[in-house]
Amino acid sequence: QSQELSQARIDYHVALLALQEHGTRMVCTGKMHTDRICRFDYLCYCSEAEEFIFFHSNSSVMLPNLGSRRFQPALLDSSSVEDHNTQYFNFLELPAATLKFMPKPVFVPDVTLILNRFNPDNLMHVFHDDLLPAFYTMKQYLDLDDEARLVFMEGWGEGPHFDLYRLLSSKQPLLKEQLRNFGKLMCFTKSYVGLSKMTTWYQYGFVQPQGPKANILVSGNEIRQFAKVLMEKMNITMVEDVDNEGSAEDEKDKEKDNYIVVFSRSTTRLILNEAELIMALAQEFQMRVVTVSLEEHSFPSIVQVISSATMLISMHGAQLITSLFLPRGAVVVELFPFAVNPEQYTPYKTLAFLPGMDLHYISWRNNKEENTITHPQRPWEQGGIIHLEKEEQKRILTSKDVPRHLCCRNPEWLFRIYQDTLVDIPSFLDILKEGLKTKPSLKKLKPASALHPGRVREPQCQTSVQTSNEARLTVSWQIPWNLKYLKVREVKYEVWIQEQGENTYMPYILPQQNYTFSDNIKPFTTYLVWVRCIFNKSLLGPFADVLMCQT
Ligand code: UDP
Repeated sequence: QSQELSQARIDYHVALLALQEHGTRMVCTGKMHTDRICRFDYLCYCSEAEEFIFFHSNSSVMLPNLGSRRFQPALLDSSSVEDHNTQYFNFLELPAATLKFMPKPVFVPDVTLILNRFNPDNLMHVFHDDLLPAFYTMKQYLDLDDEARLVFMEGWGEGPHFDLYRLLSSKQPLLKEQLRNFGKLMCFTKSYVGLSKMTTWYQYGFVQPQGPKANILVSGNEIRQFAKVLMEKMNITMVEDVDNEGSAEDEKDKEKDNYIVVFSRSTTRLILNEAELIMALAQEFQMRVVTVSLEEHSFPSIVQVISSATMLISMHGAQLITSLFLPRGAVVVELFPFAVNPEQYTPYKTLAFLPGMDLHYISWRNNKEENTITHPQRPWEQGGIIHLEKEEQKRILTSKDVPRHLCCRNPEWLFRIYQDTLVDIPSFLDILKEGLKTKPSLKKLKPASALHPGRVREPQCQTSVQTSNEARLTVSWQIPWNLKYLKVREVKYEVWIQEQGENTYMPYILPQQNYTFSDNIKPFTTYLVWVRCIFNKSLLGPFADVLMCQT
């Protein structure tokens, strides 16, 4: 491995001199540790101490210079999971002069992205916490290109999905345990530490019960672009997008090829009557039904199948993250075991509902206790409960609904989520058919391009007093500049009128570019007026500068 980092591309003595003279330099973005990513020149890592080292010299830079606030609680989150206390990043400081007394450093010539994977054993975590954030962090910093080196510092082994991490760059990612092979002191010529949290949509319930993040900043567009790049790297041929105007015959061809994918789990949280379910689906929808599982198929071959599927059906679980490879307009059906409320565990539902993801999501829950198979004898991580007090076991066994809880070791939750289920076919088909009734057609999905209006221009008001208690207020404006270039189905304007000093306002929606208000307009009064444009009922533009209108 040390050969791979051959020093060919950098002159060792130049690098060593630079480190000794200039020390480490750090410049970061982000005001808080939770939104910070730092860029370093000559950040070093001491494998003996298992610590990163910042070497101070006269020309070191450390921005932000937080003093001891750097430890309150940390400089930054190394993983994309917000403020998790096992994922904090920091470094030790030393004067550059101490380099003389240290082992000779090995320099890493590649531009490096240093991060913690959060849970590389679990496919959902791999995508949501690591792959998507790393992919978009690399988009944010141009020198993190295809030649960039990823370094995973969480301390785990490769894990079952290492091939997926390999897709992020052409260089083999390094694990923490491998760093010691390079010697006692390793210095990264140029590195970034941290991950963008911009693409994450779910919080796992460390401080409040799990659910969608409060402020989701990613749309289906970014998820799909990521999926497309990944598929290219896996050599998966994409069937053309819905956008492609197909002839009637093409449509027919496509219809012939419609199929349902059942993503099955082979070891836990089983569907006990999978064969029966598959038969019922094939009969009901007159479609082929294909089964895939992580145990039996390679990941690329699963993605290949899913990327052209009409419907993906699976038990709740990490494998459902593959719905990000479904074509637009596809249906995701998530099954939940007995006593598990689908509304409380929504990573895949939230994904399906991201704007522009264009997936149709349906959930089904086993409501029949006689159709569930529990596993009280198993180890606690797989939902066993025999280690609990008798009373507690009884309570769990009689409960019909797992109450809201925090991550990650709630025994009642684990007990229920690891049940196997005999799917009641009639009730399942009913829910499915009912859910499909509200599925929008592919055509309707098309105008998903969500362009927002600009500010209305030249807003003006004119006023006149009619009688001692009647006045008029005329407000007019010009269309937003970008509307000139757009075909918009419906353009409307919203006007807010507020009497100065009052804390309520009257909102109006208008189709035209001027209007004379006379109801509730008083003489010798100052009104504040805001105007904005709205495209297609929901795409709001910004308000123009407030108008002060005196009657
Ligand atoms: N897994 C699987 N087959 C199984 C059970 C689990 O492939 O029968 C995978 C699952 O997709 C995930 C990992 O093993 O990537 C951990 O599964 P677990 O049940 O712990 O997590 P969950 O699926 O509930 O997120």
